[in-house]
Amino acid sequence: MKIAIASGKGGTGKTTVSLNLALALSNVQLFDCDVEEPNCNLFLGFDLEKVEDVICSVPVINQEKCDICRKCSDFCRYNALAALPDKILFFPSLCHGCGGCTILCPEKAILESQRSLGVIEKAKGGSSLEFYRGLLNIGETMASAVIRTLKKYIDDQKTVIFDAPPGTSCPVIASIGDADYCVLVTESTPFGFHDFRLAVDVVRELKIPFGVIINRWGLGDSSVEDYCKTKRIPILLKIPNDRKIAELYSQGIPFVRKMPGWNEKFLGVFEAIKSQLVGLEDVKI
Ligand code: SF4
Ligand code: SF4
Repeated sequence: MKIAIASGKGGTGKTTVSLNLALALSNVQLFDCDVEEPNCNLFLGFDLEKVEDVICSVPVINQEKCDICRKCSDFCRYNALAALPDKILFFPSLCHGCGGCTILCPEKAILESQRSLGVIEKAKGGSSLEFYRGLLNIGETMASAVIRTLKKYIDDQKTVIFDAPPGTSCPVIASIGDADYCVLVTESTPFGFHDFRLAVDVVRELKIPFGVIINRWGLGDSSVEDYCKTKRIPILLKIPNDRKIAELYSQGIPFVRKMPGWNEKFLGVFEAIKSQLVGLEDVKI
């Protein structure tokens, strides 16, 4: 089963939930899909090793062969190619590496070269958890390509947890789109509630079963709980606004490791997810 941990707003506690859930379970893989700023390993402290460079094939135009027919620039949906009267300009950071321009150039004026977007890393053998993360190169924007490469390392025999980036844009879709279940982590503040509803719209659009974990519960008002009740969205867990949890977080310690009872609560979340999915199967039957 693949479980994505997502939210609309950043800083609601996605990484906290991903880590604590992964540490509570066994036979699990944790993927840090927040490739612009992966921070799971701040809490895990594993020695990491590179497993793969993430490469994008980009066009190189031979201006001598090119007759400025504009077919490539008209084709490129990402505006990575622009036709001037006397040459074709290429903007590497906009190129998604689809290869379409190379295929359709009638003058065979386009060759391809490789551009590095980032790396995939994993925890070295002997670590207590199977952990992978993607790391986007500074200045690059193609986070989704790194996330797609990261997901090559999914083991279907294991429970898989994706720590998704914040927001509702392409990298989030790349992170959660193939998940069997999505946990939305939120907090009951006006900003948290606003972005939570955006995230609900996304998972509904993607038709992914989902539930909610309210973090820093007790802070703010009851708007998230009231909304979930009205919309019949299951609340899987409430993590209280507890000073001890905040102190452990500030020391880089997942709180299931130090606070009694929380391992069982995260195991309960996993059981609730399984029950919800079994229920959906029954409905389909
Ligand atoms: S398709 Fe080929 S020939 Fe036409 S403008 Fe592009 S590079 Fe030049
Ligand atoms: S490879 Fe695709 S995205 Fe890149 S410039 Fe060519 S058509 Fe555009």
